[in-house]
Amino acid sequence: MSGRIFLSSPHMSDEGYEQQYVKEAFDTNWIAPLGTNVNEFEKELAAKVGSKAAAALTSGTAAIHLALKAAGVGEGDIVFCQSLTFSATANPIMYEKAKPVFIDSDYQTWNMCPEALEVAFKKYPKVKAVIVVHLYGLSADMDRIMEICSKHNVIVIEDAAESLGTHYKGQQTGTFGHYGIYSFNGNKIITTSGGGMLVSNDEEKVAKARFWATQSRDNAKHYQHSEVGYNYRMSNVVAGIGRGQLKILDDRVAKKNYIYEYYKRELSGLEGIEFMPNNEWDAPNYWLSALTVKGKVKPLDIMLALEAGNIESRPVWKPMHMQPVFECYDFVGDGVCEELFNTGICLPSDSKMTNYDLTRVIEIIKGVWEK
Ligand SMILES: *Cc1c(COP(=O)(O)O)cnc(C)c1O
Repeated sequence: MSGRIFLSSPHMSDEGYEQQYVKEAFDTNWIAPLGTNVNEFEKELAAKVGSKAAAALTSGTAAIHLALKAAGVGEGDIVFCQSLTFSATANPIMYEKAKPVFIDSDYQTWNMCPEALEVAFKKYPKVKAVIVVHLYGLSADMDRIMEICSKHNVIVIEDAAESLGTHYKGQQTGTFGHYGIYSFNGNKIITTSGGGMLVSNDEEKVAKARFWATQSRDNAKHYQHSEVGYNYRMSNVVAGIGRGQLKILDDRVAKKNYIYEYYKRELSGLEGIEFMPNNEWDAPNYWLSALTVKGKVKPLDIMLALEAGNIESRPVWKPMHMQPVFECYDFVGDGVCEELFNTGICLPSDSKMTNYDLTRVIEIIKGVWEK
């Protein structure tokens, strides 16, 4: 059997940029706590996405948590959250003892449905924040979502964990709302092994997030704290990996686009297959190539056939309102996200894949239809 093909795995630069920055940290013994790499990574990331400020953190989840705190979310507050997503989007709402209300997706974007969002605002007029996600590197319809949220004076947090490098109408996703977050977890388009970033044009709030992330140490010689703090700050070694990865982000986006186009060309003809949407406003990073399949072939048939060929794939995210832990919270929508979950599949989209690897995947999938 040939080597395993992964969904999306870490891919360091051929030039070894990451190791150079990490070596610098070692050479200067700036292993911890903070240091040049952290500060520079924040600046470079902020410049790359077009945001005024950024805070480097231990994870994307930590970034969502601090964005919620910056938005003033506390006990009992209602937060609208896209239902179709990874649990990391919703968990921080629980950390703050706030109440999530889950919002449906639409077929046009796979992300938050603006109509469902309007309906939710009618039902819940007092809302503290809205978390919108850009899944698989597709952008949500940010113009409409921002318009609705500003009408209701509500803070928008963009979970752009999967969409670094994705542009909506020419602007980087994660920079439309009051706060945006990116993840550098191992499977994301660029990785630091683990890490995240909070971005915002509100420099004071970002400074506040850094304060919370370093145990909320007051400005005093001794250890003094007037607020609860967290240990959420990115290390200087990890930030070195991030600086190197950021240099080759555009190459990764180009390769993921290539993979998506390749699959689309080869597989679109199969009965019942529909690829993830391609809106004219959208320049996606195609973090994962995803599609839906309806008819005689089921997503599970494809996944099992791929697994037998030592190839990783997975279903589209199971919506949050269907999760045992979140079942008791309200959901607003028609169940589009349930349908996407039931029919969706993510194909291996590893940026290290060769044409030979792509052919291996395609031949197995075509074989499922021939059975
Ligand atoms: C990966 C991911 C996160 C969490 O990021 P971590 O860095 O793993 O904490 C949040 N939201 C979505 C949609 C993700 O895919």
